[in-house]
Amino acid sequence: MADVELRGVRKRFDGTQVIRDVDLRIGDGEFCVFVGPSGCGKSTLLRLVAGLESVSAGSVHIGGEDVTARPPRERGIAMVFQSYALYPHMTVRENIAFGLEMGRARRAEIDARVRDVAGKLELAPLLDRLPKQLSGGQRQRVAIGRAIVREPKVFLFDEPLSNLDASLRVQMRIEIARLHQSMRSTMIYVTHDQVEAMTLADRIVVLNAGRVEQAGAPVELYRHPRNIFVAGFIGSTR
Ligand code: ADP
Ligand code: MG
Repeated sequence: MADVELRGVRKRFDGTQVIRDVDLRIGDGEFCVFVGPSGCGKSTLLRLVAGLESVSAGSVHIGGEDVTARPPRERGIAMVFQSYALYPHMTVRENIAFGLEMGRARRAEIDARVRDVAGKLELAPLLDRLPKQLSGGQRQRVAIGRAIVREPKVFLFDEPLSNLDASLRVQMRIEIARLHQSMRSTMIYVTHDQVEAMTLADRIVVLNAGRVEQAGAPVELYRHPRNIFVAGFIGSTR
């Protein structure tokens, strides 16, 4: 069980209220997509779930447990960012294994898990390469590999495909959908790409200035946007 629940969450930076009052429950295994204009607080909300930022008020619950005071490593989550953040001096194998090393896993187990993940993401022939010897799509796959090797209960993606070209984005979108099907983990995915949101999401959460403007299944938001703002983000104004 790894549902994610935000209760009365607020976040201020230097006196500026960035997350105003968010109550949201993302079900176990749900694929939830956050959309909204630049600066509305999408990344901050993910970072609050991950524990990379601390809440100013409210609480964060994962799998029914209050994790508000817990550090990122103890939350059972993995995060994939827009910039791949791979270690340039480490091979693909070492980059993927990095998450496990920190968890004190045994060498033989590490090797087996890395091979399994590399197989899933078609990285097996590339394990001994360095990041600079990979394409953008391959690098992002390594970043995803490093996240899934730990078998997290919850995945957080912050615009993971926005640095990739259009055709690669379509391919990676299909891979992420497949990943969700095979892992059955809870996913929270930030994007500004409407097609990604509509095709990947079980539920879309539209954020505006630190608040949830509307949340619902893609077809529901498309057919019944609460206002012009939501309609603009879901594409039904055109
Ligand atoms: P989004 O991901 O939706 O574009 P962010 O969550 O990155 O938005 O940012 C929301 C707001 O919070 C922005 O106004 C941003 O400038 C501000 N912000 C984000 N992180 C910090 C920080 N560490 N310190 C101060 N302000 C921040
Ligand atoms: Mg952002």
